[in-house]
This record gives sequence, C-alpha cells and structure tokens, in this order.
Amino acid sequence: MQDEQLLRYSRQIFLPEIDVVGQQVLLSSRVLILGLGGLGSPAAMYLASGGVGTLALADFDDVDLSNLQRQVVHGTSDVGSPKTASAAKRLTEMNPDIELIELSEKLNEKTLQAQVELANVVLDCTDNFSSRFLINKVCFQQRTPLVNGSAVGFGGQLAVFDFSNASTPCYQCLYPVEGPDGDHCSDTGVIGPLVGVIGSLQALESLKIILSIGQTLAAKLLLFDAFESRWHSVSIPADPDCSICS
Ligand SMILES: [Zn+2]
Repeated sequence: MQDEQLLRYSRQIFLPEIDVVGQQVLLSSRVLILGLGGLGSPAAMYLASGGVGTLALADFDDVDLSNLQRQVVHGTSDVGSPKTASAAKRLTEMNPDIELIELSEKLNEKTLQAQVELANVVLDCTDNFSSRFLINKVCFQQRTPLVNGSAVGFGGQLAVFDFSNASTPCYQCLYPVEGPDGDHCSDTGVIGPLVGVIGSLQALESLKIILSIGQTLAAKLLLFDAFESRWHSVSIPADPDCSICS
C-alpha cells in the first residue's frame, strides 16, 4: 500500500479488527450496488470513501429534481443526467483510488447473474418487489451475500442474507408473495435522514461481511421507527415452503 493510501485510510487501519491487512482486503473487493437513490447514495459514498476497490453501480434512471431531498450522491447540476454518471462523478471526487463500473441499462436476469458473479457482496437499494425478488433469487443461486434495505415514510428496514450458510432464510421467506408496489416513496413520501441511516447501515454490514468481522444481522430483520425513535429486531425463520430457498 502506498503512503497516500495509508494516510487516506488511516482511521480505519487504526482499528485492530481491520488493520493494513483488512484494508487490502477491502481494496481488492467488489460490491454491486443496485439502485442509486436514497439508500444507494450513502451506501456508495461510505463504501467508496472506505476504499472498497471496485463498485459496480447499477441504475437506469436519470436524476430528477424531486430526488435531491434525500439522494445525496447527486447534485442540482446533475438533474437530467444518468444516476450512474452523476454518482460516479461524485464518488471519483471523494476517492479517485477506486474503480467504478457504471451499469446504466436495466439489468435482466442474465446480466444480473453476470454482475452478481463478480461481486463479493450485493446491496439491494431498489424500491420494488419485482427487482427485490429477482435479486434475491440470483444471490441465493450464486451464494452471494445480500444486504437488503428499504425505507418509506418514517419506517426503515434492514436485512442481511448470508447465503454461504445453507440453512439461512432468504428475502422471499420474509415476503413470500409479491405485494403491491404502491407503497414506495415516489407516491407516499419519505423523510430524508431515514434513508441515510438505512443506507449507511447497508454499507456497514457490507464492510463486516467482506472483512469477516463482528456479528452481522444475518437472518434478522432490523426495524427502525424514525417517528417514535424506536429500533427493534426480529428473527427471520426459513420458510419450508419458500419457492426460492427450500
Ligand atoms: Zn426463502
């Protein structure tokens, strides 16, 4: 590692759980971030600044003025630009030391499989059930750890699925049936810092998975009620009738 890298990542390297060896693991890792909205913004920023060597950034939308209240990786001058290009510009400014892959086409099952295969961890930062179900299925098939976040209104959720463990539940054990997609923030609203909290936790869980340190949230659902300032977590049992993982 060069002197400049040792200085850039010094506060992380000072942690005995990470050290120079852990930083090198991060620099040689690749994370796939699906969705560069409210959750994907802080997740991508913390993973980029922390020196995850390669970030694959997937989003097929353009930046809209109504995004800027919470999608903090994008700025006013980016309105109308692809979110991938806008995020890559900001992340490069934050840390030119890492490689960014821009995936601005909508991923189908085949292209998603190819990207998941290359990734150490996948972050689901999307906002609809059909994408979430497909991402869960592909990550389960490839045994790639999945960190799933969601936020709407004042309520946030975080779940980690460590598919290296054969008995782990999957996202569809939690939500067996594709629900109505109506309840997402484009039509119900969401408080900005909430997506910052959940997206940051997605980055944190990803770093722990890559480094194999600490206790991840695996097989648990963490719920945050931002209105009442309450957290709680529940175990996710594996569903013996799950159409994906049983
Ligand atoms: Zn399942």
